[in-house]
Amino acid sequence: EADWAAIDAAAEAGSDNAAEPPQPVLAIVGRPNVGKSTLVNRILGRREAVVQDVPGVTRDRVSYDALWSGRRFTVVDTGGWEPDAKGLQAAVALQAEFAMKTADAILVVVDATVGATSTDEAVARVLRRSKRPVLLVANKVDDQRLMAEVASLWSLGLGEPYAVSALHGRSSGDLLDKILEVLPETPREAFGGTGGPRRVALVGKPNVGKSSLLNKLVGEERSVVHDVAGTTVDPVDSLVELDGQVWRFVDTAGLRRRVNHAQGAEYYASLRTQAAIESAEVGIVLLDASKPITEQDQRVITMVAESGRALVVAFNKWDLVDEDRRLQLAKEMDRDLARIPWAERINVSARTGRAVAKLAPALRTALNSWDYRVPTGQLNTWLSDLTAATPPPVRSGKQPKILFGTQAGTRPPTFVLFTSGFLEAGYRRFIERKLRESFSFTGSPVRVSVRVRE
Ligand code: GDP
Ligand code: GDP
Repeated sequence: EADWAAIDAAAEAGSDNAAEPPQPVLAIVGRPNVGKSTLVNRILGRREAVVQDVPGVTRDRVSYDALWSGRRFTVVDTGGWEPDAKGLQAAVALQAEFAMKTADAILVVVDATVGATSTDEAVARVLRRSKRPVLLVANKVDDQRLMAEVASLWSLGLGEPYAVSALHGRSSGDLLDKILEVLPETPREAFGGTGGPRRVALVGKPNVGKSSLLNKLVGEERSVVHDVAGTTVDPVDSLVELDGQVWRFVDTAGLRRRVNHAQGAEYYASLRTQAAIESAEVGIVLLDASKPITEQDQRVITMVAESGRALVVAFNKWDLVDEDRRLQLAKEMDRDLARIPWAERINVSARTGRAVAKLAPALRTALNSWDYRVPTGQLNTWLSDLTAATPPPVRSGKQPKILFGTQAGTRPPTFVLFTSGFLEAGYRRFIERKLRESFSFTGSPVRVSVRVRE
């Protein structure tokens, strides 16, 4: 009797997970103009201007990767608002709530030259409930004379205020050391071991409606179009809350930068798509349902499937689809999507919002499949039942036997079968199909490889 537990442990240890190692998340909150962006630049150690002096420029929550003293972490800048006092308090409080949901530690920034405002107090009220460490930063302490103001910030009830000058770099090294002290080594939410929100690539050929859909998901008709003019912000990813869960849509910067269809644009778009897929765990391939499925659509689908990522297919512009087109599309799907019968298909409209709410459940299903592991004992019982009912075809007078199988990895689920002889491709496909039927790998590729034991 084999020691399945030991085999599982070995497979787990050696499993080749596509995702990056987990990184803890530091969220920065505070009202506008206190210097959050300047501080983020300090933390990232680069001078790339995230700071905007243009009034009324808004941006989404964005995240960046940071490195300090050999430790990597993700910095989430929860963004700015119109500097219009109306609704500000509520907006900043929401931002703090969001940080508490997603971050491993929170930096709340206050402007020491102004002191604690009622908005700062509202944020502090929220953050005092935080189960994660909260560091209070008194910014703009460009000189020593402000230390009395800094001391008054103890009143916020968030512990000791750390005086820094994000602009001049004063004490920023000390602050970073302090951050590393409170930031856990591993992220709070295991989410299957990747840490942080799950990463989604929204991909598809130009004009299928990617940026429209992203806007719809973000729930605000802003930023994507307006962000272009004159801003130097490069928000690589967007954090979007869907169905009570926060998702990280990777490389949405690519969606924002509306490059014209100049020469070579398609090549760059395809490189960008590839990069987005590589850094994601699941891809949403968006197609334009009102037009025939093209080669270019197929190439994007192939990219996701071959990268081994989970996949959801969404047919956009469903508002334009009439009965004739629907029938035509059904034929195109049979012909062009036959390779990926396992991917869930959703008919959406970024314009009307139709079925957009179905995306999050589909993403969750796909990722659950992608992460799923069949215990080795169960797999082998299943294999002997299967081969007893339908034995592998005889080859050159010999009956190949499946000696045992194991799921060597997840993300995507990868099975290795040890056999006494060659297994035909048809039989391997049969096994894959049966695996899908029994264990429901909806939304995920499944790989089956065979090792012949002499
Ligand atoms: P955010 O809206 O909180 O992201 O604030 P910004 O980072 O955009 O900063 C708002 C303004 O405060 C900008 O004009 C910055 O140059 C300025 N600022 C940021 N940090 C400091 C600082 O440490 N000292 C001074 N004097 N000004 C700062
Ligand atoms: P992207 O290049 O994939 O980011 O596509 P865009 O989001 O820029 O959309 C391309 C065009 O399709 C724009 O004119 C959108 O208004 C339009 N569009 C996007 N989604 C829909 C939809 O669901 N229905 C309709 N009728 N038009 C849409």
